[in-house]
Amino acid sequence: MKNVVIIGGGHGGIDLAKKLDSVAIVTMIDGKSCFVHTPAAIRALAEPALLDQLIMPYDNLLARGKVVQGWVANIKEDGVELTDGRELPADIIVVATGSTYAKPFKHSDAGLDDYRAAQKEVAASLNAANTVVIVGAGPVGTELAGEIACKYPSKAIHLVTNEDHLFPTYTPNLAKKLEADLLKLGVQLHTGKAVEDLQSLSEPYAGKVTLEGGQQIEADLVFPVVGSRPQSELLAKVDGVKLATDGRVEHDGWMRPSQLRPNLFAVGDVLASGDAMTIVALARQVPWLEKTIKVVLAGKSVTSLKPYTPWPVAPILVPLGSNFGATALPFGKQGMAVGHFFTSKIKGKELFIPKYRKQLRLK
Ligand SMILES: Cc1cc2nc3c(=O)[nH]c(=O)nc-3n(C[C@H](O)[C@H](O)[C@H](O)COP(=O)(O)OP(=O)(O)OC[C@H]3O[C@@H](n4cnc5c(N)ncnc54)[C@H](O)[C@@H]3O)c2cc1C
Repeated sequence: MKNVVIIGGGHGGIDLAKKLDSVAIVTMIDGKSCFVHTPAAIRALAEPALLDQLIMPYDNLLARGKVVQGWVANIKEDGVELTDGRELPADIIVVATGSTYAKPFKHSDAGLDDYRAAQKEVAASLNAANTVVIVGAGPVGTELAGEIACKYPSKAIHLVTNEDHLFPTYTPNLAKKLEADLLKLGVQLHTGKAVEDLQSLSEPYAGKVTLEGGQQIEADLVFPVVGSRPQSELLAKVDGVKLATDGRVEHDGWMRPSQLRPNLFAVGDVLASGDAMTIVALARQVPWLEKTIKVVLAGKSVTSLKPYTPWPVAPILVPLGSNFGATALPFGKQGMAVGHFFTSKIKGKELFIPKYRKQLRLK
C-alpha cells in the first residue's frame, strides 16, 4: 500500500484521512493534539461549557492510519520534514493547512492552552460588557450577534458592515429574513458603514468605534470579524507554487499546486478553489479529492477525471442562537432562502457537534 501524508487536521484533513484510511497507509499530521470544531466556538463565548465539546482528541479518528503531532517545516519530493527534525515518507502529500482567524475564534500555532485561555478571557469580558460592537457581518459576525443577543438580551449589540445588505451575493430574501430576526432580537444593524478607526484586526478590545458618516460608539468590547487568512506559507516554499492575490494557492484542475509535483495536492481554505473558505466547500472538495487520489493509487492518470469546479451557489446556514436564523439552499442563481425551522433543526440546535464527535469516535 502507498503512503498518503495529510498535513493539517482541520475539517478537510480529518474528513479526507478517514475516507482514505482503508485504501492507503494514512498519516495525518497536525501541530495540535485535538480537532477543533470552529463553528461552535461562536456560541462557546456565550456558553463556555461548550468548549469541552468542540475540542475533540484525534486518538480514535483512524482505524488503521495514524495521527502524528508535530508542525511540518518542509515538503520534500518523497515526504515531509517536521520542525523537530523527524521525517515521514510519502507517495502522496495533501496540504490542508487551512487558515487563521482573529482571536478567540480559532486556535493558532500557540496551541490549545492558549486557545482555551483566549476563549475564557473573552467570554468573561463579554459577560461583563454592556455595549458590544461587531465589525464585519459575514457568517461569523452575524451568528455572533445572534448568539450574544439570545444569551444577553439586555446588552446593546451593534453589527456593522460596509455592505448595503447582509450576504449580498445571495437572494435578497436571505438578508430580509436575517435582518428581521436581528431586529426582533434587539441587534442594531449598521449597513453601508465602514469603520474608520478599527484598532485591531487580530483580537477583541475595548474602545471607541467611528462609523463612516461620523457616528461614534463607545464599546466595552469590539470584535473584529473580517474573515479568514489562509496559511499558505508552507506550500509557498515548494518550487512551482504560486499564490493568488488573496494568499491562497493556485492549482490545476486536479487540486495540484505545482506542475513540478504531480504527487502534491491541496484542499480547503488554503486552496484558491473558487469556493469560499467554508466547511460547505469542503463537503464538495473532499469527496472529489478522495476520488482523484484513488485514481492515482490505482496507477492511473488524474486527467481521466473531470477537473474540479467550485459550488455554483454554495448553501449557507446562518443560525442566530438555537431557534432563529435563515438558510440559503443551493437552488437557482442566488439560492433559495428558508427560515427558522430548517436552520434551527439542521444547524442551530446542535451546531453539528454530534456529527463531528461521531466522526472522531467520541461520546
Ligand atoms: C468562528 C468560525 C466559524 C465558522 N463556521 C462555519 C460554519 O458554520 N460553516 C462553514 O461551512 N464554515 C465555517 N467556518 C469556516 C471553516 O471553519 C473553515 O472553512 C474550515 O475549518 C477549513 O478547514 P481546513 O481543513 O481547510 O483548515 P483548518 O480547519 O484551518 O485546519 C488546518 C489545520 O492545519 C494545521 N496546520 C497548519 N499548518 C500546519 C503545519 N505546518 N504542520 C502541521 N499542521 C498544520 C492547523 O493546526 C489546523 O488544525 C467557520 C470559521 C470560523 C473561524
